[in-house]
Amino acid sequence: MIRFFAELIKSLGMCQEDCISCGGKISSWQQGFVCENCINSLKPHHPAEYKRLDYVKSYRVFGLYEGTLKDVILSIKFNANIPLAHWLGKVIAPYLWEYIDSTKPDIITTPAINLRRYWSRGFNHAEEILKGAEVPYISVFKRVGFQAPSAGLKKEERLKVVQTHLLKDEAIDLLENKKVLIFDDVLTTGATITRLAELSLMVGALEVHAFFVAKAL
Ligand SMILES: [Zn+2]
Repeated sequence: MIRFFAELIKSLGMCQEDCISCGGKISSWQQGFVCENCINSLKPHHPAEYKRLDYVKSYRVFGLYEGTLKDVILSIKFNANIPLAHWLGKVIAPYLWEYIDSTKPDIITTPAINLRRYWSRGFNHAEEILKGAEVPYISVFKRVGFQAPSAGLKKEERLKVVQTHLLKDEAIDLLENKKVLIFDDVLTTGATITRLAELSLMVGALEVHAFFVAKAL
C-alpha cells in the first residue's frame, strides 16, 4: 500500500528520486528531476550557424536542444516544474544579461502560450525562466483559437498555428518607438519569432531582438 502511494506520488510528478538526465540520485527534493551535477554542467554553447530570421535584428542562443538542456526544458514544460524553470533562469542569467546589456531593449517579453495549455500547466514556462534570471518582463502577446501543440505538424498547419499569435490591444501603444527583446525557450523553424517580430514592427517598434535558451538541431 505504501509502495502504491509512493508510485502514485511519483507518477503525479510530485517527487522523483532519480535524475531524468543522468539517472543519478537527487539529493535535494526541491530542485526536482535533474541533479545538481547535470544542472551545473550547463554552459553556454555558441552554435556555429545562425540562420537568418526575418524581421529579427539580432538574436542569441544559449545552447543546443540536446542532452541535459533538452531534458531540463522538457521537464519544465511537461512536469510543470517551476523550481527547475527558476534554476534554469539562474544558469542562463549571466549570458542573457550580457545580451540585454548590449541590445538595451526597452521591453522584454515572451510569446504567449495558448489558453488551453496555460490552464493545464498553469504557467508560462518562458516567463518562469525569466523570473529565475531576475529579468523584468511584460506580456504584450496573446493567443487566439484552440490548437494542438505545434510539434509534428505539417508546414501548412504550422502556418495556421503561427497566425494564432496576436498582439494584446493595450500593447499596441506600448511598443511604439521601443526596442523589443523576445525571450523563448526553443528556436525551431523560427516561424513564431518571425511572426512576433513582424507584429511588433507593424505597430511601430524600432527593432526586435530575440534570445532562445536552445536551438533545435
Ligand atoms: Zn543528473
